[in-house]
Amino acid sequence: MPTLFERIIAGDLPATIVHRDDRVTAFRDIQPRAPTHILIVPNKPIPTANDIADSDEALIGHLFTVARDLAKREGIAEDGYRLIINCNQHGGQEVYHLHVHLLGGAPLGAMVAKHS
Ligand code: AMP
Repeated sequence: MPTLFERIIAGDLPATIVHRDDRVTAFRDIQPRAPTHILIVPNKPIPTANDIADSDEALIGHLFTVARDLAKREGIAEDGYRLIINCNQHGGQEVYHLHVHLLGGAPLGAMVAKHS
């Protein structure tokens, strides 16, 4: 079964695409948690951060340079933003296709809830 994000990348599921190249697609999160909330996704399906191969290093670097460029284009680079990758159950991952969340446009608060 293709992931939700594979379907978006293939054009089979609608999304607001903000960047697309031969390695990466970026689109707006359907349930934004900040004024800017973009998901930056490798076109090739890598399920989780655990599944990143040594040979994916350049691809992973590209996810971050695309994030940097999108932050600038969204006008949030100077004030600041947050990049998040969730992994597996404890990380709260919902879609098992690696993605970087780009969040900004307002103060984002604490990084995570305090551990008791
Ligand atoms: P994660 O918990 O890191 O796996 O995040 C998955 C994200 O995908 C969530 O923020 C969802 O709101 C987002 N999402 C789920 N379905 C869609 C969709 N069809 N289009 C855009 N974003 C989606």
